[in-house]
Amino acid sequence: TDILQLQDREVFEAIANETTRQTETLELIASENFTSRAVMQACGSVMTNKYAEGYPGKRYYGGCEFVDVAENLARDRAKKLFKCDYVNVQPHSGSSANMAVLFSVLKPGDTIMGLDLSHGGHLTHGSSVNFSGQMYDAHSYGVDRESGLIDMNRVEELALKVRPKLIIAGASAYSQGFDLKAFRAIADKVGAFLMADIAHPAGLIAAGLLGDPMPHCHFVTTTTHKTLRGPRGGMIMMGSDFENPMGITIKTKTGSRVKMMSEVMDAEVMPGIQGGPLMHVIAGKAVAFGEALKPEFREYAIQVRKNAAAMAEKFTSLGYNIVSGGTKNHLMLLDLRNKNVTGKVAENLLHDAGVTVNKNMVPFDDKSPFVTSGIRIGTPAMTTRGMVEADSIAVAELIDRVITAAEKPDVAKVCQGVREEIKALCLRNPLVGYV
Ligand code: PLP
Repeated sequence: TDILQLQDREVFEAIANETTRQTETLELIASENFTSRAVMQACGSVMTNKYAEGYPGKRYYGGCEFVDVAENLARDRAKKLFKCDYVNVQPHSGSSANMAVLFSVLKPGDTIMGLDLSHGGHLTHGSSVNFSGQMYDAHSYGVDRESGLIDMNRVEELALKVRPKLIIAGASAYSQGFDLKAFRAIADKVGAFLMADIAHPAGLIAAGLLGDPMPHCHFVTTTTHKTLRGPRGGMIMMGSDFENPMGITIKTKTGSRVKMMSEVMDAEVMPGIQGGPLMHVIAGKAVAFGEALKPEFREYAIQVRKNAAAMAEKFTSLGYNIVSGGTKNHLMLLDLRNKNVTGKVAENLLHDAGVTVNKNMVPFDDKSPFVTSGIRIGTPAMTTRGMVEADSIAVAELIDRVITAAEKPDVAKVCQGVREEIKALCLRNPLVGYV
């Protein structure tokens, strides 16, 4: 850091301020976490200098012997962690991972199905502002208005009607599990591929706390930086489907043969949508997967879920509506309509109070994505700080104090008071070994 301080004061100061923000305020964004210093060291290493187009042992560049070691470690550890037969650790992000899968099995204009963005889905699941909604004939399923749960009857009805070639299961703001067995039965009925996007709960799945997607899905994609607690990035996995022929015949020296799904996927990531892999990030992924294979990570994941459950229970007792009635994972979506506060106002006030959350559409929201009626709250980052159920309950009370004061004249003073309490809570739970 000293070199950066001497050479480029502006960037140094931005990083120093961000460090203070992460240290002294409470991070409750459900998609964020703190990677270990070991992961950050790998990501900040000389591997950023290396071009390595291709895959271990089959590169288009010389000098890849050591980056090959890192990529093989990342692959082997990911396979062990998720019990998968195929993995590609090169996608630069979760969106790239999804793009590679879509490009590998779809042609422009093909039909896909995914969870509605405003019901908790992700942009890459068929949103009209994303390539997935622009290149394909995208249809969305949603949650039931009353229960807030994914309506499997509607999923089946829609699949039978639109006959998708690919169904995407997964979400960015859904606090229940996905019944992937039922999704697969529907996919089989209409001859569709099934892809699970486990970006959010990946860490909980790796720890064995949520259902294993691998036996049910043709493809599983994830980010590596959310509950999984690795560096920012993406990854694609397959179970035994990796050996399926793709109906694409290629000429070989000795004749011709049919391409396997694994070959098609590797080629779709590079050269299909990416060039050189980020080898420093892949090294960081290897380190993070190594951490996730340790028993301590399972303890961490268990605590993430306990904290979310304790917080959701407290919010419910304080009169808040949680979409779907509670949480089975690391996040919850508070519907603030009965509190007469918009998501936007809540996010801003909580920011003033030292608590970082994001405003979020709730299902059947009548407000725009820039205003929204809800906030999304997650416990992965606070749990990395060592916080437990009592802290989660205290945090829910502090958030309630801010939201209750939203319309009152002394709101600024309330936020200031909460900010001091949040800072004290954070300093009692320092990020040793992380920031
Ligand atoms: N898929 C889901 C379900 C997500 O929640 C996200 C990120 O928020 C992504 C994919 C995309 O990840 P990235 O931001 O790395 O492109």
